[in-house]
Amino acid sequence: MPLKTMAEYERLAEQAHGHMCAGQVLGLRMAICGVRLLGLEDPAGRDRKRLVAFVEIDRCATDAIPIVTGCRLGKRALKFRDFGKVATTFCDLQENRAVRVAARESAKERARATHPEIADKNRQQMLAYRELTDEELFEIQWVRVAIGPEDLPGYKAPRVVCAACGESVSFKREVVRDGRTLCRSCAGERYYQPL
Ligand SMILES: [Zn+2]
Ligand SMILES: [Zn+2]
Repeated sequence: MPLKTMAEYERLAEQAHGHMCAGQVLGLRMAICGVRLLGLEDPAGRDRKRLVAFVEIDRCATDAIPIVTGCRLGKRALKFRDFGKVATTFCDLQENRAVRVAARESAKERARATHPEIADKNRQQMLAYRELTDEELFEIQWVRVAIGPEDLPGYKAPRVVCAACGESVSFKREVVRDGRTLCRSCAGERYYQPL
């Protein structure tokens, strides 16, 4: 199943995301742009195992990335780096190259200028984000991404047990402190406080 039409992707995105919005359109365009630049004809099918995507924000547009790429968090092919930016880096593991596609700050203004007759911002942007060119919407940058074997889908290694809490840790996420093997939580990165 090669790339689908925008209309088909929008249907799938609406289903997965729960509503249709400008973020879905922008995210779909971003993903299509990324996989095209990498030359992947069937990202969610035949080329599925070649692709890893790093998303930089947890907002609407992010939900659209797996629709086109097939990259999912649970498959370890979608990575979240919380930078608060509407940007995604698409990595082709086979060719060892990557491209970062970032939404331009000016895209909203362009949307306003393109469809001043539409007052509703979401509708205005949805329409414009379908029409504007990749260059108008995105800043594109070829980059290198170092992905360790432990970050790749399919990585296998024994889990280790945290010396403090006894929970097991996969994918080399353990930390060694003063000779003790700890989970990141016990090593000081805990984001919750036990009550
Ligand atoms: Zn949304
Ligand atoms: Zn622990």
